[in-house]
Amino acid sequence: MDRILVSACLVGWPVRWDGGAKTLHHPLIAEWAAEGRLVPLCPETAGGLAVPRPAAEIETGADAAAVLAGKGRIVDAEGHDHGPAFREGARIATATARVRGCRFALLTEGSPSCGVDLVADGSFSGRRRAGEGVTAAALRAAGVEVFSTNDIEKLAERLAAEAGDASTAK
Ligand code: SF4
Repeated sequence: MDRILVSACLVGWPVRWDGGAKTLHHPLIAEWAAEGRLVPLCPETAGGLAVPRPAAEIETGADAAAVLAGKGRIVDAEGHDHGPAFREGARIATATARVRGCRFALLTEGSPSCGVDLVADGSFSGRRRAGEGVTAAALRAAGVEVFSTNDIEKLAERLAAEAGDASTAK
């Protein structure tokens, strides 16, 4: 059975910067939880950040690859760099995926860690730009297939295809 690394805030863990969760009420989440597929992880708290914590955004002009390489910053509104904690969270997420056998991840869109196709634009204005969070980028680089909550049905299709392949191979 394929396991899914899932952003912990999506399954109700109150780990977001503001102390809240971002619970995704979707029948597939309930189904996968009942099957024991879900491996919840919050890379930011795993990396040592507190709850609550200052909101942080990938700096304008930088991207996830630059942050992972230590050449770009993730800053709060006062300009403090939190890159080391974000990099540590990405490292723990990829290690967790490897150890727990997660070939798929379902992540929270827009986050500087978990964003899949979108991140904040670095202006702390609520605007988003195309881009990925540092954990999403690290997971992709490690060969994990990453999906946002907008694409949860596509993830279900991939799981079904993998299950079909597995039964055909028997
Ligand atoms: Fe949710 Fe990811 Fe942010 Fe943690 S780092 S609160 S799991 S979006």
